[in-house]
Amino acid sequence: MIDTHAHLLMFENYGEKIINSMSDDGLEAVVNIGTTLNDSKEGVLLAEKNENIFAAIGIYPEYAKTVSPEVIEELKQLAKSPKVVAIGEIGLDYHTEGYDAELQKQVLIEQLKLADEMKLPFCIHCRGAAKDMFNLLSENKHLINHSGLMHCYSEGAEWVQKFLSLGLYISFSGNITYKKSDRSFLKDIPLDRLLIETDAPYLAPEPLRGTKNEPKNVRFVLDKIAIELGISSSKLNKITSENAKRLYYKMGK
Ligand SMILES: [Zn+2]
Repeated sequence: MIDTHAHLLMFENYGEKIINSMSDDGLEAVVNIGTTLNDSKEGVLLAEKNENIFAAIGIYPEYAKTVSPEVIEELKQLAKSPKVVAIGEIGLDYHTEGYDAELQKQVLIEQLKLADEMKLPFCIHCRGAAKDMFNLLSENKHLINHSGLMHCYSEGAEWVQKFLSLGLYISFSGNITYKKSDRSFLKDIPLDRLLIETDAPYLAPEPLRGTKNEPKNVRFVLDKIAIELGISSSKLNKITSENAKRLYYKMGK
């Protein structure tokens, strides 16, 4: 299994225990996600030290205020590492107290430009902002040349085909396993656009909801989607792993 989105730096010793037991846990690779310039730097170091760890780098919408041309330039230098597979997580979050939508949009566009310039896909965080996100991505379609993914997808059936129409992948985390989650639209997503992730340490899937999530729990996300689609977990695992390597193409190099 490949966990396409985890925050390893939030674990003791940057997830050393998790990394050491990856093969026992059936984990082929984990992508550590950046949210600030500092954790993006640390994430690249971690990925460079561990063969099966990869890094996404970027500034999370809540930290939009910290972005300057210098920060973008530093991210650009970091993106040159062979272990950096994506720009993210970047996006729009309208749930944060006192959020500045215009600033978040500007910062998102700057980072979409960075992804395009560095020939990398991007990883989108979107909370309560589906309409603005779709409009912004549509208006900046010229910057989507290496695709991207909607992380922890939670915008429901209404938006999924719209994001798919932009050529994006749809990634699910523990949220898709929750009792009240709408899973009816899963079958409408082409199999070659599906990804699985944990967002660890957040969003532990059922039956572990409420505990500190770990990358190995991506298995529960995989199993739930496989049941919904009526295919075996091993087949879906093969498909989602291939998808991850196609999107995060630097993984295979
Ligand atoms: Zn995340």
